[in-house]
Amino acid sequence: MSLDVPASALARCAVHPELPAAGTCSRCGGFVCADCVRVVPGLEGRVFCAACAARPEVNYLEAFRLEFWGRRDRWAWTVGVVTLALCALGLVSALDQRAPTALRLLFTFLTPVPVGVAFFLGRSWARHALVATPVATPVVMAVLLEPSSREEVALMMVCAVPALIIAIVIHSDVRNQLFFRLDVTPGQLKALWNVRRNNPLARHALSFGLGGVFMPVFAPLAVLCGAVAWRRVDPEAYPPIGRGGQALAGIVLGVASLLLWGFVLLSFLSRFLSGVVVHK
Ligand SMILES: [Zn+2]
Ligand SMILES: [Zn+2]
Repeated sequence: MSLDVPASALARCAVHPELPAAGTCSRCGGFVCADCVRVVPGLEGRVFCAACAARPEVNYLEAFRLEFWGRRDRWAWTVGVVTLALCALGLVSALDQRAPTALRLLFTFLTPVPVGVAFFLGRSWARHALVATPVATPVVMAVLLEPSSREEVALMMVCAVPALIIAIVIHSDVRNQLFFRLDVTPGQLKALWNVRRNNPLARHALSFGLGGVFMPVFAPLAVLCGAVAWRRVDPEAYPPIGRGGQALAGIVLGVASLLLWGFVLLSFLSRFLSGVVVHK
């Protein structure tokens, strides 16, 4: 009697029946081949199938991504408000001008408006158009409208530089890319999660601690936030809670600031009191 098991009786991948199974999914129990094995961040010791690894209740980064998917971020709202302001400014400034100047003003202020509206509505072409707008507007003005002076165009180009820098920052913002429903890498998602969700109180503690050096009112806040954040730190939790170093730095800075300001206050008081004694 042979102990060999026929190939047809071996476990097969649920998705690829032609391939042998390399393991079973720890959530649904389905067989997975080597290609189908997925690793979930924070649960590295466990095997998941592709479908289970993408479930928000299994993968905290996936849950985090879905939370922002297609939702307007602060940049979308900023662009929306600026677009409204441009409409208002264009109309108001054009109203009390003569015809050619009024037309030029209207053109200048209203050129970026379609891009701004499309951006606010989440049209993906508007992401790229937003970067092109600060460059294109003065160039089109210079070519088409022959402005009264070269200085005017030069001034517009100078004004366009900060707008261009902000547009590039928005273009590379991962949270904004989620609003436009663009795929971001797991690394980018993890970095965004780290900023937004990984013990943010510890970050505040550090900020308060730094602020406390200059403004004593922030020092107790730094100690309080740092202490609470420090208690929350748990690298074994799922998802892991970190930033212990920042919480500790907040506490240390807060205590040091309290001592520093206490010393300043005491020396001021003792000088004030000795002044009172001398005058008596
Ligand atoms: Zn599964
Ligand atoms: Zn497979």
